[in-house]
Amino acid sequence: MEPVVSIQGLRKRYGHVDAVAGIDLEVQRGEIFAFLGPNGAGKTTTVEILEGFRTRSEGEVNVLGVDPAKGDAAWRNRVGAVLQESNAEPGLTVRESLQLYSGYYVEPRAIDETIALVGLEEKADTIGTKLSGGQRRRLDVALALIGDPELIFLDEPTTGFDPSARRTAWHVIDGLRELGKTVFLTTHYMDEAEQLADRIAIIAGGRIVAEGTPETLGGRNRMAATIRFTLPEGTGAADLPPELRALLAGEDGRVTLTTDTPLVHVHALTGWAIDRGIDLPDLDVRQPTLEEVYLELTRSEP
Ligand code: ATP
Repeated sequence: MEPVVSIQGLRKRYGHVDAVAGIDLEVQRGEIFAFLGPNGAGKTTTVEILEGFRTRSEGEVNVLGVDPAKGDAAWRNRVGAVLQESNAEPGLTVRESLQLYSGYYVEPRAIDETIALVGLEEKADTIGTKLSGGQRRRLDVALALIGDPELIFLDEPTTGFDPSARRTAWHVIDGLRELGKTVFLTTHYMDEAEQLADRIAIIAGGRIVAEGTPETLGGRNRMAATIRFTLPEGTGAADLPPELRALLAGEDGRVTLTTDTPLVHVHALTGWAIDRGIDLPDLDVRQPTLEEVYLELTRSEP
């Protein structure tokens, strides 16, 4: 099947600056794809080229089978975008805004169904400007969906949301997957990418520095695991058996061990502790978090 988004050798120069310095990417139909990177990495530039809002300097770009630089009205109807700035019409209610926007499309979605999809049923007759920030963002998503697009760009969709509003928004975005939509998400929140994305690409300094699933990005699944625990008063890391002492990575109240074979070493640790009647109440074992991997991959970039 043809990818929904396909980019080869994309470059964008502003004067002498390569804001996007030759990137290749593909996004498949039905995927939620997260595009991450530090400020100034080239995300907005890339997304705006894909949306047909910015010209490129070099490279091949194909979105839904069309070069966005040549996208006509029919192509534009197949693409939805939620930008950082709200699209809400001043003075109109949620329902009226959606009615207005639905008039722009040949085959719009049903209005009440779209309101329900973003969970704004109780606010359907409220003026857009009287909504909370999070509710306005949900209205923006509804406005992007009203034309029933195949591909939706979401630019930092939950910035400024409280934790429960973020969960609701995630639920809405997850629902788009069930509708068979393709989602191109930019975000600065690692937990958001981890929760939603089928695949992640990290851009830094205009280049893709890693691409993969949340579990495998940057070799995360192959990285050493960390075992952490607190020993009781009077016992220290020096009392551990030699095979565990060899893994010592830090002792600052809690002992930190790093290992490529966590199961074996947790077994050794718990066996040792039980033999001595030592409890390890805060024992935890984990792979590096997505945030740790991200910081490592983007560390040397400006
Ligand atoms: P953020 O996370 O801060 O939104 P971003 O990854 O979206 O950042 P871009 O907005 O794509 O980054 O910017 C990439 C680089 O291109 C930056 O160095 C920026 O200063 C530069 N840039 C962006 N737009 C222009 C422009 N119109 N003219 C000149 N330089 C620009």
